[in-house]
Amino acid sequence: MHLVIHRGSHEIGGSCVECVTDDGSRLVLDLGLPLAPVLRDALLPRVPGMCPPGDLGPTGRPLALLLSHAHLDHAGLAPHADPAIPVFASRGTVAILDVNRILQPDVPTPARPVVLPDHVPFRIGPFTVTALPVDHSAPDAQALLVEAGGRRLLYSGDLRAHGRTG
Ligand SMILES: [Zn+2]
Repeated sequence: MHLVIHRGSHEIGGSCVECVTDDGSRLVLDLGLPLAPVLRDALLPRVPGMCPPGDLGPTGRPLALLLSHAHLDHAGLAPHADPAIPVFASRGTVAILDVNRILQPDVPTPARPVVLPDHVPFRIGPFTVTALPVDHSAPDAQALLVEAGGRRLLYSGDLRAHGRTG
């Protein structure tokens, strides 16, 4: 497994990391909105097959999009993902997205995510994903442990080390 960090390594916001196995299977961790203004054409990260319209190319679509939490800088571009790509998130993140659908019906939201339970290893193609609860200002935020091809990635999402449960 290797990683393509599309955004978020040298900036706050716009988080998007692509995990790729040797056979070309891909998972995407977060599809966040950049906090700094960018040109519209540069808004969507260039993840092959992620956001239509666009050529699927030889790699097709990613197997899944996983959202670490509901903040816009991690999930704000998820409504632009191809609806054929399954979305996974915590129960709390799914609930927040559902509330947004009610309170802001004109604002696009991603397809209803599948709940990714805490501490339960979950197979997505060649990947094993384990969601780990972390303390953050977004309820039910998760870090994501991704394992494939003998390698492991711990994607923290956002977390804080202060406060009541720091
Ligand atoms: Zn956050």
